[in-house]
Amino acid sequence: MTEVESVKIESPRIGVFVCHCGLNIAGTVDIEEVVKYARTLPDVVYAIDNRYTCADPGQKEIREGIKEHNLNRVIVAACSPRMHEPTFRKTVSEAGLNPFLFEMANIREFCSWAHGSKKEAATEKAKEIIKMAVAKARFLRELDTFKVPVINKAMIIGGGVAGIHAALDLADMGYKVYLVERDESIGGHMAQLDKTFPTLDCSICIEGPKMVEASRNPNIEILAFTDVLNVDGYIGNFKVKLRKNPQYVIADNCTGCGECVDTCPIEYPNEWEMNLGTRKAISVPFAQAVPLIYTINRDHCIECYKCVDACGDRQAIDFEQKPEEIELEVGTITVATGYDIYKPEKEGLYGYTRYSNVITALELERLINAAGPTGGEVIRASDGKHPKTVAFIQCVGSRDVNKYEYCSGFCCMYALKNSILIKEHWPEIEVYIFYMDMRAYFKGFEEFYRRARELGINFVRGKPSEIIEDPKTKNLIVRTVDTILNEPIEFEAELVVLSTAAVPISGTKELSNVLHVTTGPAGFFLESHPKLKPLDTPVDGIFLAGACQGPKDIPYSVSQGSGAAARAARILSSEKWEIEPIVAVVDPEKCKNVKAKCAICLKSCPYNAPIIEEGKPARINPAMCHGCGTCVAECPSDAITQMHFTDAQIFEQIRAALEENAENKIMAFLCNWCSYAGADLAGTSRFEYPPLVRAIRVMCSGRVDRDFVLESFRLGAGMVLVGACHLPTDCHYISGNWKMKDRMEVLQNMLEKIGISKERLQVAYISAAEGLIFSKLIKEMAQQMEDIGVGKIKAENEKARPIIGNMLARKGLIEKKTE
Ligand code: FAD
Repeated sequence: MTEVESVKIESPRIGVFVCHCGLNIAGTVDIEEVVKYARTLPDVVYAIDNRYTCADPGQKEIREGIKEHNLNRVIVAACSPRMHEPTFRKTVSEAGLNPFLFEMANIREFCSWAHGSKKEAATEKAKEIIKMAVAKARFLRELDTFKVPVINKAMIIGGGVAGIHAALDLADMGYKVYLVERDESIGGHMAQLDKTFPTLDCSICIEGPKMVEASRNPNIEILAFTDVLNVDGYIGNFKVKLRKNPQYVIADNCTGCGECVDTCPIEYPNEWEMNLGTRKAISVPFAQAVPLIYTINRDHCIECYKCVDACGDRQAIDFEQKPEEIELEVGTITVATGYDIYKPEKEGLYGYTRYSNVITALELERLINAAGPTGGEVIRASDGKHPKTVAFIQCVGSRDVNKYEYCSGFCCMYALKNSILIKEHWPEIEVYIFYMDMRAYFKGFEEFYRRARELGINFVRGKPSEIIEDPKTKNLIVRTVDTILNEPIEFEAELVVLSTAAVPISGTKELSNVLHVTTGPAGFFLESHPKLKPLDTPVDGIFLAGACQGPKDIPYSVSQGSGAAARAARILSSEKWEIEPIVAVVDPEKCKNVKAKCAICLKSCPYNAPIIEEGKPARINPAMCHGCGTCVAECPSDAITQMHFTDAQIFEQIRAALEENAENKIMAFLCNWCSYAGADLAGTSRFEYPPLVRAIRVMCSGRVDRDFVLESFRLGAGMVLVGACHLPTDCHYISGNWKMKDRMEVLQNMLEKIGISKERLQVAYISAAEGLIFSKLIKEMAQQMEDIGVGKIKAENEKARPIIGNMLARKGLIEKKTE
């Protein structure tokens, strides 16, 4: 323990405010008993309950309490700190208290919501959670936030309708925006659509002008055909590395006249047209592409150089062009990379790819589009004729626990749209929609649904089991059970359109690794909080917009683009941005670097924050430090402290948690971004688990010192759990979870040697989206603990205690006389 942290603050005067949260907490936890108990805790001079502590009257009571009782530490026992810690920090600072003299006790997500059927046990657990918070609060100290300068430029990744709107809004506010698009043109999926529901506006007619506006805005620089390679830095100061891929056409010289295209002899399938049409080896994917710069596809080009001749004096063709690395510095990043559609090619589901008259809805969008490969004619691939009957099959891949569990949101509406369009163009065509449930829940949607019914579109409730092709006619027999009539039916269609699931776009995982932003269980980017921070990510300064976060229609994506721009502008409009002082600090007296170049802190830091100079103690650059605490746990001389998560504070929490009944408890250390959030979700989802866990929040699992585990066993813990972000790449701090893993593996072996059963120390990798997994894990651990038996746990602890005690005493972490 370093000098900085070992002293308890003189005369703490702690106030505890226990929230009922209506019946969310008070319905399970006996608040009166908890308040009475809080009054008995050391240094607590005031404790009361409030119905809603986060509401105005509750906050007023805190401010008044601080003044009237001269409080210098405040605890709010309520929801998760991930929800309202910033709210209460602000409240206490309004009353003149340093915001870091505030601590939250999570008695809602971690207690009342997770143990709804066990009121007594939940009340006991709530008391102990508060006891742990009080124990930490006695060692809290004042901290000052840091201010870092802000680069007032923004980067948007993804030039679909969401990204374009984010870029336009920020540019209109006067900020320089880099709009990075990996395809040749911005526009995203909206550019591929024919009309848009429920108004039936022409899609490219409304998006095209926005694309052009973005390209003409002097504040927007479109970087198309460009990949994001690396992102470093922090809010207000991101350093980005991009790769501009060669198009073999010099953008500045290309006038977009298209003469090169006319002379090019080579055609290949146009992916943008869903491979239903072709494009030339030198071409743009579609006529309205922005930027209008031609690309030579070297996989198809035969190097006849006819394009060079056609280009003539403009000299825009450059076969020597190489990939170009671009480095940018930006203050904020918005991810708007959209979605993809599921193509059931591999499985051949419903005969897709085997039967030529089975197509996806996106293919239909291109067929029905007047500018599409068939000039707007919906025709069958088998004979080039209009079909007389069209069947839409909904939820292909979506709402399927074996495939994509979620609802893809927009498919019901686009199936209605395309059925209406077919009926309006060719009234004689019979249209059938095979659905599980029709979902038409936004403005104008229900009316649109009625319009489809009035046009004579037929709705059959039932998910088809299979489709068989008639080899002669190439017609398709759809087999299903009509669940309204409760009868099996067979239906012959001439064309089948599959409304396939919207899925995360390729490269989402790789980009999430580059940005250190997590993805949810379905693989889409995960927002910081589903309700209160739907556009933020856990990485400050990085935002989300549009369908990259999950399926969203155009209005929703546009709103999110504008919303993300507003969130980013809060930062970009500030000259400096305050960042939390939860950083590492070195005690120069204890640092071994002076005598022998140790530099373990530097090796363990993914951000290069430690400064190592020969013969001098290490120092940490606070602006570079992200506050994971990994160096603190790795330092062999315990010379580093993580502010607000000091060894002293965590040791006090462990001791408070394990004072009674330790052998029946699971002492858990959970990382803020994943496993703590996962445990929160278990509570929010009301997944019950045994009330045995006493959790300590750390910013990163890399902070979990082996001494925390040792102290837990010395005090008799039944089990210890270290909860981290998923390996290999989900760690919010890049590599903290790896460092922890190595450390815990060594410790596990050592513990086994001194008689502690291996399974009593567990490491689990749980994401913020895995509430169910957290609750299952705790149930399993509780069962394992029961199987080992209290007697054996106690005996093992007794045997190991003197050895552990000596180890900790030698480091000065416990007093020698206790052993
Ligand atoms: P996208 O349109 O997917 O755009 C994302 C962009 O990001 C793309 O340009 C992509 O190339 C780029 N990108 C991806 N990864 C990267 C990366 N790593 N780096 C850089 N760039 C990247 N909605 C409606 O409201 N009305 C309709 O009528 C309608 N019809 C539809 C019909 C069909 C068949 C389908 C499948 C969807 C339909 N939708 C409709 C939904 C609509 O397509 C989406 O709402 C909209 O496209 C979402 O916009 P976005 O910008 O979030 O994503």
